[in-house]
Amino acid sequence: MLPISTERAQLEPGWHWANRFATLGPDFFTELAPQAVPQPYWVATSGATASLLGLGAQALASNAWLHALAGHGNLEGARPLASVYSGHQFGVWAGQLGDGRALLLGELAPPPGHSASGLEIQLKGSGLTPYSRMGDGRAVLRSSIREFLCSEAMHALGVPTTRALSVIGSDLPVYREEPETAAVVARVAPSFIRFGHFEHFSFSNQLDLLRQLADHVIDHHYAECRDSTRFASNPFAALLHAVTVRTARMVAQWQAVGFCHGVMNTDNMSILGLTIDYGPFQFLDAFDPGHICNHSDHSGRYAFNRQPQVAYWNLFCLGQALLPLIGDQDLAMAALEPYKSSYADAFAGQMRAKLGLADLTLESDSALIEDLLQLLARNRVDYTIFWRRLSHLAGGGDPATVRDLFGDRPGFDTWLLRYSELLRLIPQGMAADLMLKTNPKFVLRNHLAENAIAAAKQKDFSLVRTLLTLLESPFDEHPGMDAYADFPPAWAAGIAISCSS
Ligand code: AMP
Ligand code: MG
Repeated sequence: MLPISTERAQLEPGWHWANRFATLGPDFFTELAPQAVPQPYWVATSGATASLLGLGAQALASNAWLHALAGHGNLEGARPLASVYSGHQFGVWAGQLGDGRALLLGELAPPPGHSASGLEIQLKGSGLTPYSRMGDGRAVLRSSIREFLCSEAMHALGVPTTRALSVIGSDLPVYREEPETAAVVARVAPSFIRFGHFEHFSFSNQLDLLRQLADHVIDHHYAECRDSTRFASNPFAALLHAVTVRTARMVAQWQAVGFCHGVMNTDNMSILGLTIDYGPFQFLDAFDPGHICNHSDHSGRYAFNRQPQVAYWNLFCLGQALLPLIGDQDLAMAALEPYKSSYADAFAGQMRAKLGLADLTLESDSALIEDLLQLLARNRVDYTIFWRRLSHLAGGGDPATVRDLFGDRPGFDTWLLRYSELLRLIPQGMAADLMLKTNPKFVLRNHLAENAIAAAKQKDFSLVRTLLTLLESPFDEHPGMDAYADFPPAWAAGIAISCSS
């Protein structure tokens, strides 16, 4: 057992805590120290995320950083705080929520002249806050491993997301449906501000604070909105528009890669258009447009094919929250209006790249894509495996490997004929190259995460680390690792992931 380190966790030379969120003042948060988990141990770390913070491998092997990221507070210059926000949960106004088990350590900024920008580090599972309501302020190992791996996987897939620096485990018992153990994830993003932060100040009629928050977000994250001449030179309408476009593109990427978020409440929507708050998410196995990945989502509000619509609903809530600042309903609607076309353009672009047809903008593309999705759905074809095999087919592989995935083989043959005609217009090899960089071999399927979690509960973290390696470069072949790219086992269909985490 390691002694608690009293040693300060060191930053690299020139790196310092900037803590811009804290400058908003105490109406926006409560400052408090994290409540560390006892006797912490490393479960996994991301070297890639560490390097964004100027931290080298030695930091993530050190006792001092282990204790810092477990919540022991040995970070000089950090200003830990829990922020307050509200939100709509499952379509219903839930009132005040807030960081109930998350704590912003602060924002780490690089030395002057460095090309990187400041990034916030947030601990999740670091104890009670004034916003914990009925919760215990803790996160369990199971969901912490899922969040850690999925954050890094999504980044490697090119999907905007919060990042993850570490998962730290502890034997501290935490009670959910059954006794589990605690963990702390350190996650990283330019900002953790959510739609719900705006809803909080708007719907409680604290309009000066609402304006302060909007100005903060524009100044630090959407500087181009300040002097935009669009939307009657209204910077708040420009902000709503910019968030609308980013959110549309993010969701288009979810749909293209087969990612189901599971809890798209407005408090789980990032103002930066990042995927945030990984809970009962799932990468589709068999393609089922109506798939519901969240066991607690009885009505299917957040089913896979509803995500684009729900994102718009959430943006509408953000628009309502910003209305007192925008001052004109027509202007707010005009800022939201491009959602549909931004989404459709981004989705079509993603799907064209998946088909290796990126440079073509043929009218027939959309029918080809629509017909394919219907064929995949009717035949319940494994989504990730289909695209990877199609990529190899485009590079001259055997069509039977793809054809065999379909019950309706004549239906697939008809589609393949249309697709092959388009492929012929593209220089040999180009399509396959693009497809192999667009269609991942490895995604974080539920059963892979479950296996890694089962081993981790026995203190064997090797599978978590193996998965991280594969998911960090999901487009590479990784010879010898094909088992991780295979069909899910039959028991995967019985995995039930709920909001409980
Ligand atoms: P989530 O469903 O994880 O997005 O959480 C919704 C709200 O509940 C947020 O305000 C969380 O901070 C809070 N929350 C979730 N789990 C806990 C917990 N174990 N302890 C305290 N607050 C929690
Ligand atoms: Mg949340």
